Amino acid sequence: MLIVKKFGGTSVADKERIMNVAKRCIRDYQAGNDVIVVLSAMGKQTDVLIDMAKDINPNPGRRELDMLLTTGEQTSVALMAMAMDVLGVPAVSLNAFQVAMHTTSAYGNARLKRIDTERIRHELDSRKIVIVTGFQGVNKYDDFTTLGRGGSDTTAVALAAALHADKCEIYTDVDGVYTADPRIVKKARKMKEITYDEMLDLATLGAGVLHNRSVELAKKYGVQLVVRSSLNEEEGTIVKEDVKVERMLVSGVAADKNVTRISVVGLQDKPGMAFRMFDALAKANINVDMILQSIGRDNSKDISFTIPRDMTDDALKALEDKKDVLGAQEIKCKTNVAKVSIVGAGMMSNPGVAAKMFECLYNSNININMISTSEIRVTVLIDEADVEKAMNAVHDSFGLED
Ligand code: ASP
Ligand code: MG
Repeated sequence: MLIVKKFGGTSVADKERIMNVAKRCIRDYQAGNDVIVVLSAMGKQTDVLIDMAKDINPNPGRRELDMLLTTGEQTSVALMAMAMDVLGVPAVSLNAFQVAMHTTSAYGNARLKRIDTERIRHELDSRKIVIVTGFQGVNKYDDFTTLGRGGSDTTAVALAAALHADKCEIYTDVDGVYTADPRIVKKARKMKEITYDEMLDLATLGAGVLHNRSVELAKKYGVQLVVRSSLNEEEGTIVKEDVKVERMLVSGVAADKNVTRISVVGLQDKPGMAFRMFDALAKANINVDMILQSIGRDNSKDISFTIPRDMTDDALKALEDKKDVLGAQEIKCKTNVAKVSIVGAGMMSNPGVAAKMFECLYNSNININMISTSEIRVTVLIDEADVEKAMNAVHDSFGLED
């Protein structure tokens, strides 16, 4: 069997944990499997490197930042290979260049395009455990790129797909995917199984366990994932196409605090305004999420939308530059907001789910700023201060606890 095992930063945070992970991988290897290990940087090393960069240059160039960040994963894979060596098992560490993992050129947010499998196959054939740096790639200029924060999951899934692995296991510091973040919702429960679509929404909406692109890739290539803890032997959560157990109306609740709401007030009410505005944001590489346009009045209209909070300055600048072309009167910005979402494939065939969520928020006296929905999701924008109250109330009202 070919097994891809991915370990996050906390799982390799220190010597003891690295040795534990090494042993765990060796177990599979000695059972006769081919083993590929994908690692994140140790502990909070990526944050440490970003801080170091910003300390020297508050606005570090993206190429150089990626050059720096890729050292985090390079450190952990090399140490892991040394750990396996000490335990008497042949292992080799490879970075994105050595593999090679080809990506688009967007530093900081690159997408994997193609993975050469020859080198890995060769190393596996000579019965080595292959340890690959997560999160990084190489672009057409032969520069290092990174896949966006949390991108090591995507590296693992992409390798599993490219090599037709039999298993792809994502090890983290929680036991699996929960109905809500257990740090916020005490009654949260671990799910046995979840569909790709639900997981994708939860990941995108802030559930933190998996990089959303890894779920996209897993769905596209039919890679079944297991999310489990590196600290214990619990079974974890399986992410796959369809789930047999009877559908709950709602599977999980997620919150995302990395949100800013921007309102552009008094736009001219004529064709092309939304296009110009969102085009400017797209060109500045800003992902826009919830969008709300008011009904036009007195030849003007307002458009509000949400963006990742860490892009606030870039977005405001892009909009200010276009303010005259858009004929906008005012640009407002609110940063202390957050998104709370419910996700569930069972929603599709059951009316009233959104109403139930709104009723529950009303009962908790929480005001809704914006709403957006899809077939399997309802998202509300609320004040950041209300997030914990909202999550617990919604979790309770849909009976997600044990
Ligand atoms: N080390 C990177 C990060 O902290 C990638 C990852 O952990 O998946 O975002
Ligand atoms: Mg992660």
